[in-house]
Amino acid sequence: MVTFLSGGTGTPKLLSGADDVFDPAETTVLGNTGDDVELGGLHVSPDLDTVLFERGGVLDRETWWGIDGDTEETHAFLHELASAAGLEAGPRYLPDERQTEGRELARWRRFSGVAEFMTIGDRDRAVHLTRTGLLDEGRSLTAVTRTLADAFGLAVDLVPMSDDPLATMIHTPRGEMHFQEFWVAHRGEPAIEAVEFRGEPRATVPVEKALEDGVVIGPSNPITSVGPIRAVGGVEERLADAPVVVVSPFVEDRVFSGPAGDLMAAAGYEPSTAGVAECYPFADAFVLDSGDGTKLDRPVVRTDTTMDSREDAERVARAVGEALEVLA
Ligand code: GDP
Repeated sequence: MVTFLSGGTGTPKLLSGADDVFDPAETTVLGNTGDDVELGGLHVSPDLDTVLFERGGVLDRETWWGIDGDTEETHAFLHELASAAGLEAGPRYLPDERQTEGRELARWRRFSGVAEFMTIGDRDRAVHLTRTGLLDEGRSLTAVTRTLADAFGLAVDLVPMSDDPLATMIHTPRGEMHFQEFWVAHRGEPAIEAVEFRGEPRATVPVEKALEDGVVIGPSNPITSVGPIRAVGGVEERLADAPVVVVSPFVEDRVFSGPAGDLMAAAGYEPSTAGVAECYPFADAFVLDSGDGTKLDRPVVRTDTTMDSREDAERVARAVGEALEVLA
Protein backbone atom coordinates (compact mmCIF):
# COMPACT_ATOMS: atom_id res chain seq x y z
CA MET A 1 0.00 0.00 0.00
CA VAL A 2 1.21 3.51 -0.75
CA THR A 3 -0.34 6.92 -0.11
CA PHE A 4 0.36 10.12 -2.05
CA LEU A 5 -0.29 13.50 -0.41
CA SER A 6 -1.54 15.76 -3.18
CA GLY A 7 -2.21 19.33 -4.16
CA GLY A 8 -3.45 20.25 -7.61
CA THR A 9 -0.45 20.20 -9.95
CA GLY A 10 2.85 18.55 -8.96
CA THR A 11 1.50 15.36 -7.42
CA PRO A 12 -1.32 14.83 -9.98
CA LYS A 13 1.42 15.09 -12.66
CA LEU A 14 3.40 12.40 -10.83
CA LEU A 15 0.27 10.22 -10.53
CA SER A 16 -0.25 10.41 -14.29
CA GLY A 17 2.77 8.11 -14.70
CA ALA A 18 2.53 6.06 -11.52
CA ASP A 19 0.26 3.19 -12.67
CA ASP A 20 3.03 0.83 -13.83
CA VAL A 21 5.07 1.42 -10.69
CA PHE A 22 2.38 1.45 -7.99
CA ASP A 23 -0.66 -0.82 -8.38
CA PRO A 24 -3.63 1.63 -8.49
CA ALA A 25 -5.71 -0.81 -6.42
CA GLU A 26 -3.11 -0.42 -3.63
CA THR A 27 -2.77 3.35 -3.99
CA THR A 28 -4.47 6.04 -1.95
CA VAL A 29 -4.39 9.74 -2.83
CA LEU A 30 -4.92 12.05 0.14
CA GLY A 31 -6.09 15.38 -1.27
CA ASN A 32 -5.70 18.88 0.16
CA THR A 33 -9.00 20.63 0.86
CA GLY A 34 -7.52 23.85 2.29
CA ASP A 35 -8.19 25.50 -1.11
CA ASP A 36 -11.89 24.54 -1.08
CA VAL A 37 -14.45 27.31 -1.34
CA GLU A 38 -18.20 27.65 -1.39
CA LEU A 39 -19.01 29.74 -4.42
CA GLY A 40 -22.63 30.67 -5.04
CA GLY A 41 -23.63 27.82 -2.73
CA LEU A 42 -21.52 25.23 -4.53
CA HIS A 43 -18.75 23.37 -2.73
CA VAL A 44 -15.68 23.54 -4.99
CA SER A 45 -12.71 21.26 -4.17
CA PRO A 46 -10.02 22.30 -6.67
CA ASP A 47 -7.29 19.85 -5.64
CA LEU A 48 -9.59 16.82 -5.29
CA ASP A 49 -11.08 17.67 -8.68
CA THR A 50 -7.73 17.82 -10.44
CA VAL A 51 -7.01 14.28 -9.24
CA LEU A 52 -10.57 13.21 -10.08
CA PHE A 53 -10.35 14.59 -13.62
CA GLU A 54 -6.72 13.54 -14.25
CA ARG A 55 -7.22 9.95 -13.04
CA GLY A 56 -10.63 9.94 -14.76
CA GLY A 57 -8.96 10.84 -18.09
CA VAL A 58 -10.86 14.11 -18.65
CA LEU A 59 -8.51 16.75 -17.19
CA ASP A 60 -7.64 19.87 -19.17
CA ARG A 61 -3.89 19.25 -19.19
CA GLU A 62 -3.08 22.77 -20.41
CA THR A 63 -4.32 24.42 -17.20
CA TRP A 64 -4.25 21.40 -14.83
CA TRP A 65 -7.77 22.24 -13.68
CA GLY A 66 -11.22 21.75 -15.16
CA ILE A 67 -12.53 19.33 -17.78
CA ASP A 68 -10.95 19.20 -21.23
CA GLY A 69 -13.18 20.80 -23.87
CA ASP A 70 -15.63 22.11 -21.25
CA THR A 71 -17.82 25.09 -22.19
CA GLU A 72 -18.27 28.20 -20.04
CA GLU A 73 -21.71 29.48 -21.04
CA THR A 74 -23.10 29.74 -17.52
CA HIS A 75 -19.95 31.44 -16.22
CA ALA A 76 -19.93 33.96 -19.07
CA PHE A 77 -23.60 34.82 -18.64
CA LEU A 78 -23.12 35.32 -14.88
CA HIS A 79 -20.67 38.10 -15.79
CA GLU A 80 -22.96 39.63 -18.41
CA LEU A 81 -25.79 39.64 -15.92
CA ALA A 82 -23.73 41.20 -13.11
CA SER A 83 -22.44 43.87 -15.43
CA ALA A 84 -25.94 44.69 -16.73
CA ALA A 85 -27.16 44.86 -13.14
CA GLY A 86 -24.29 47.16 -12.13
CA LEU A 87 -22.96 44.62 -9.62
CA GLU A 88 -19.22 44.80 -8.84
CA ALA A 89 -17.32 41.67 -9.79
CA GLY A 90 -15.57 40.76 -6.51
CA PRO A 91 -14.52 38.22 -5.15
CA ARG A 92 -17.60 38.91 -3.05
CA TYR A 93 -17.28 37.28 0.37
CA LEU A 94 -20.51 36.61 2.18
CA PRO A 95 -20.83 38.69 5.39
CA ASP A 96 -18.93 37.45 8.48
CA GLU A 97 -22.02 36.05 10.19
CA ARG A 98 -22.87 34.08 7.05
CA GLN A 99 -19.41 32.47 7.11
CA THR A 100 -20.12 30.32 10.12
CA GLU A 101 -23.82 29.52 9.93
CA GLY A 102 -25.39 26.63 8.08
CA ARG A 103 -23.35 23.96 6.37
CA GLU A 104 -20.24 23.38 8.49
CA LEU A 105 -18.05 22.49 5.53
CA ALA A 106 -18.04 25.98 4.16
CA ARG A 107 -16.58 28.03 7.01
CA TRP A 108 -14.53 31.15 6.17
CA ARG A 109 -14.50 30.49 2.49
CA ARG A 110 -17.97 31.55 1.41
CA PHE A 111 -18.32 33.68 -1.69
CA SER A 112 -21.37 35.01 -3.44
CA GLY A 113 -21.95 33.59 -6.91
CA VAL A 114 -22.47 37.11 -8.34
CA ALA A 115 -19.93 37.61 -11.14
CA GLU A 116 -18.33 34.30 -10.11
CA PHE A 117 -14.63 35.06 -9.57
CA MET A 118 -13.37 31.58 -10.43
CA THR A 119 -13.99 30.23 -13.92
CA ILE A 120 -16.24 27.21 -13.51
CA GLY A 121 -16.94 25.26 -16.69
CA ASP A 122 -20.42 23.87 -17.38
CA ARG A 123 -19.51 20.21 -16.79
CA ASP A 124 -17.21 21.16 -13.94
CA ARG A 125 -20.23 22.90 -12.39
CA ALA A 126 -22.24 19.69 -12.66
CA VAL A 127 -19.59 18.00 -10.50
CA HIS A 128 -19.83 20.77 -7.88
CA LEU A 129 -23.65 20.64 -7.96
CA THR A 130 -23.58 16.89 -7.41
CA ARG A 131 -20.98 17.17 -4.63
CA THR A 132 -22.96 19.91 -2.86
CA GLY A 133 -26.25 18.10 -3.35
CA LEU A 134 -24.88 14.92 -1.77
CA LEU A 135 -23.37 16.92 1.12
CA ASP A 136 -26.76 18.56 1.64
CA GLU A 137 -28.35 15.11 1.68
CA GLY A 138 -26.15 14.42 4.70
CA ARG A 139 -23.19 12.49 3.31
CA SER A 140 -19.62 13.24 4.36
CA LEU A 141 -17.07 14.76 1.97
CA THR A 142 -15.18 11.44 2.18
CA ALA A 143 -18.27 9.48 1.07
CA VAL A 144 -19.15 11.99 -1.64
CA THR A 145 -15.59 11.94 -3.00
CA ARG A 146 -15.72 8.14 -3.17
CA THR A 147 -19.00 8.34 -5.13
CA LEU A 148 -17.55 10.87 -7.58
CA ALA A 149 -14.37 8.78 -7.93
CA ASP A 150 -16.51 5.78 -8.89
CA ALA A 151 -18.40 7.91 -11.42
CA PHE A 152 -15.10 8.94 -13.06
CA GLY A 153 -13.84 5.34 -12.97
CA LEU A 154 -10.86 5.98 -10.68
CA ALA A 155 -8.75 2.94 -9.90
CA VAL A 156 -6.99 4.69 -7.00
CA ASP A 157 -8.69 5.53 -3.72
CA LEU A 158 -9.20 9.32 -3.50
CA VAL A 159 -9.63 10.56 0.08
CA PRO A 160 -10.05 14.17 1.25
CA MET A 161 -7.69 15.13 4.09
CA SER A 162 -10.66 15.64 6.46
CA ASP A 163 -14.44 15.98 6.56
CA ASP A 164 -14.00 19.16 8.62
CA PRO A 165 -13.41 22.63 7.14
CA LEU A 166 -10.02 24.29 6.93
CA ALA A 167 -9.52 27.57 5.10
CA THR A 168 -6.03 28.53 3.97
CA MET A 169 -5.86 32.29 4.60
CA ILE A 170 -3.07 34.50 3.23
CA HIS A 171 -2.19 37.64 5.21
CA THR A 172 -1.00 40.47 2.92
CA PRO A 173 -0.52 44.25 3.16
CA ARG A 174 -3.94 44.47 1.41
CA GLY A 175 -5.50 42.51 4.27
CA GLU A 176 -6.20 38.83 4.87
CA MET A 177 -7.74 36.84 2.06
CA HIS A 178 -8.65 33.25 1.25
CA PHE A 179 -5.97 31.47 -0.80
CA GLN A 180 -8.30 31.41 -3.83
CA GLU A 181 -8.75 35.18 -3.69
CA PHE A 182 -4.96 35.57 -3.44
CA TRP A 183 -4.24 33.15 -6.28
CA VAL A 184 -7.18 33.49 -8.69
CA ALA A 185 -8.37 37.08 -8.22
CA HIS A 186 -4.97 38.69 -7.48
CA ARG A 187 -2.80 36.22 -9.47
CA GLY A 188 -0.56 35.63 -6.47
CA GLU A 189 0.71 39.22 -6.63
CA PRO A 190 0.21 40.61 -3.08
CA ALA A 191 3.22 40.28 -0.75
CA ILE A 192 2.73 37.38 1.66
CA GLU A 193 3.10 38.27 5.33
CA ALA A 194 1.85 35.02 6.82
CA VAL A 195 -0.14 31.88 6.04
CA GLU A 196 -2.90 30.81 8.41
CA PHE A 197 -4.77 27.51 8.45
CA ARG A 198 -8.17 28.45 9.85
CA GLY A 199 -10.12 25.58 11.34
CA GLU A 200 -9.48 22.51 13.44
CA PRO A 201 -9.91 19.57 11.06
CA ARG A 202 -9.79 16.05 12.45
CA ALA A 203 -8.46 12.97 10.66
CA THR A 204 -11.07 10.49 9.44
CA VAL A 205 -10.62 6.72 9.72
CA PRO A 206 -9.63 6.42 6.02
CA VAL A 207 -6.99 9.15 6.54
CA GLU A 208 -5.56 7.36 9.60
CA LYS A 209 -5.46 4.08 7.66
CA ALA A 210 -3.82 5.73 4.66
CA LEU A 211 -0.89 6.88 6.78
CA GLU A 212 -0.08 3.43 8.15
CA ASP A 213 2.19 2.43 5.23
CA GLY A 214 4.59 4.17 2.85
CA VAL A 215 3.83 7.84 2.17
CA VAL A 216 4.87 9.82 -0.89
CA ILE A 217 4.81 13.60 -0.79
CA GLY A 218 4.80 14.49 -4.46
CA PRO A 219 6.24 17.78 -5.72
CA SER A 220 3.31 19.77 -4.36
CA ASN A 221 3.51 23.15 -2.70
CA PRO A 222 4.89 22.43 0.82
CA ILE A 223 3.03 25.35 2.42
CA THR A 224 -0.43 25.63 0.84
CA SER A 225 -0.92 22.10 -0.51
CA VAL A 226 0.85 19.87 2.03
CA GLY A 227 0.64 22.36 4.95
CA PRO A 228 -3.16 22.01 5.32
CA ILE A 229 -2.89 18.20 5.30
CA ARG A 230 -0.26 18.41 8.07
CA ALA A 231 -2.60 20.70 10.02
CA VAL A 232 -5.19 17.91 10.29
CA GLY A 233 -5.22 16.53 13.85
CA GLY A 234 -2.98 13.46 14.22
CA VAL A 235 -1.46 13.58 10.71
CA GLU A 236 1.92 15.03 11.71
CA GLU A 237 2.44 12.29 14.34
CA ARG A 238 1.58 9.60 11.81
CA LEU A 239 3.98 11.07 9.25
CA ALA A 240 6.74 10.88 11.87
CA ASP A 241 6.14 7.11 12.18
CA ALA A 242 5.63 6.26 8.48
CA PRO A 243 8.36 5.84 5.85
CA VAL A 244 8.08 9.10 3.87
CA VAL A 245 9.59 9.90 0.46
CA VAL A 246 9.51 13.51 -0.76
CA VAL A 247 9.85 14.64 -4.38
CA SER A 248 11.21 18.19 -4.45
CA PRO A 249 9.18 20.83 -6.32
CA PHE A 250 12.48 22.72 -6.72
CA VAL A 251 15.75 22.18 -8.56
CA GLU A 252 18.04 23.75 -5.94
CA ASP A 253 16.45 27.22 -5.69
CA ARG A 254 14.47 27.11 -8.96
CA VAL A 255 10.76 26.31 -8.61
CA PHE A 256 8.95 24.60 -11.49
CA SER A 257 5.81 26.73 -11.26
CA GLY A 258 3.51 28.60 -8.92
CA PRO A 259 3.96 30.53 -5.69
CA ALA A 260 5.82 27.86 -3.65
CA GLY A 261 9.00 29.99 -3.39
CA ASP A 262 7.27 33.09 -1.98
CA LEU A 263 5.15 31.00 0.37
CA MET A 264 8.20 29.10 1.66
CA ALA A 265 10.02 32.39 2.30
CA ALA A 266 6.98 33.81 4.14
CA ALA A 267 6.85 30.70 6.32
CA GLY A 268 10.52 31.16 7.24
CA TYR A 269 12.09 28.53 4.97
CA GLU A 270 14.67 28.98 2.26
CA PRO A 271 12.79 28.71 -1.08
CA SER A 272 14.83 25.74 -2.28
CA THR A 273 15.26 21.97 -1.99
CA ALA A 274 17.27 22.57 1.22
CA GLY A 275 14.30 24.54 2.60
CA VAL A 276 11.91 21.73 1.61
CA ALA A 277 14.06 19.23 3.53
CA GLU A 278 14.01 21.52 6.59
CA CYS A 279 10.25 21.99 6.24
CA TYR A 280 9.71 18.19 6.31
CA PRO A 281 11.65 16.93 9.36
CA PHE A 282 9.74 13.62 9.13
CA ALA A 283 10.91 12.91 5.55
CA ASP A 284 13.08 9.78 5.33
CA ALA A 285 14.28 9.99 1.70
CA PHE A 286 14.16 12.42 -1.21
CA VAL A 287 13.86 12.32 -4.99
CA LEU A 288 15.80 15.23 -6.47
CA ASP A 289 16.52 16.39 -9.98
CA SER A 290 19.78 15.16 -11.55
CA GLY A 291 20.84 18.82 -11.77
CA ASP A 292 20.14 19.42 -8.06
CA GLY A 293 23.39 19.24 -6.10
CA THR A 294 21.78 19.96 -2.70
CA LYS A 295 23.50 17.89 -0.01
CA LEU A 296 20.99 16.35 2.39
CA ASP A 297 21.40 14.30 5.57
CA ARG A 298 18.92 11.67 4.31
CA PRO A 299 19.02 9.19 1.37
CA VAL A 300 18.55 10.75 -2.08
CA VAL A 301 17.60 9.21 -5.44
CA ARG A 302 18.27 11.46 -8.44
CA THR A 303 16.55 11.57 -11.82
CA ASP A 304 15.29 14.18 -14.29
CA THR A 305 12.24 15.45 -12.32
CA THR A 306 10.74 17.64 -15.07
CA MET A 307 7.36 16.12 -15.89
CA ASP A 308 6.02 17.27 -19.26
CA SER A 309 4.62 13.88 -20.29
CA ARG A 310 3.40 10.60 -18.83
CA GLU A 311 6.80 9.03 -19.66
CA ASP A 312 8.48 11.76 -17.59
CA ALA A 313 6.08 11.09 -14.73
CA GLU A 314 6.76 7.35 -14.94
CA ARG A 315 10.50 8.00 -14.65
CA VAL A 316 9.95 10.07 -11.50
CA ALA A 317 7.54 7.43 -10.12
CA ARG A 318 10.25 4.78 -10.59
CA ALA A 319 12.68 6.94 -8.63
CA VAL A 320 10.05 7.22 -5.87
CA GLY A 321 9.73 3.43 -5.88
CA GLU A 322 13.52 3.09 -5.53
CA ALA A 323 13.55 5.54 -2.62
CA LEU A 324 10.79 3.60 -0.84
CA GLU A 325 12.80 0.40 -1.34
CA VAL A 326 15.83 2.03 0.31
CA LEU A 327 13.62 2.60 3.35
CA ALA A 328 12.06 -0.87 3.39
P1 GDP B 1 -1.41 23.60 -6.71
O1 GDP B 1 -2.43 22.98 -5.79
O2 GDP B 1 -1.91 23.87 -8.09
O3 GDP B 1 -0.63 24.73 -6.08
O4 GDP B 1 -0.37 22.45 -7.02
P2 GDP B 1 0.61 21.58 -6.16
O5 GDP B 1 0.84 22.15 -4.83
O6 GDP B 1 0.20 20.15 -6.26
O7 GDP B 1 1.90 21.69 -7.04
C1 GDP B 1 2.62 22.88 -7.21
C2 GDP B 1 4.08 22.55 -7.26
O8 GDP B 1 4.34 21.61 -8.29
C3 GDP B 1 4.95 23.74 -7.54
O9 GDP B 1 5.67 24.05 -6.38
C4 GDP B 1 5.87 23.28 -8.68
O10 GDP B 1 7.22 23.61 -8.45
C5 GDP B 1 5.67 21.77 -8.72
N1 GDP B 1 5.79 21.23 -10.07
C6 GDP B 1 5.04 21.57 -11.15
N2 GDP B 1 5.50 20.88 -12.22
C7 GDP B 1 6.53 20.09 -11.81
C8 GDP B 1 7.39 19.17 -12.47
O11 GDP B 1 7.30 18.92 -13.68
N3 GDP B 1 8.35 18.57 -11.70
C9 GDP B 1 8.49 18.81 -10.36
N4 GDP B 1 9.45 18.18 -9.68
N5 GDP B 1 7.68 19.70 -9.72
C10 GDP B 1 6.72 20.31 -10.43
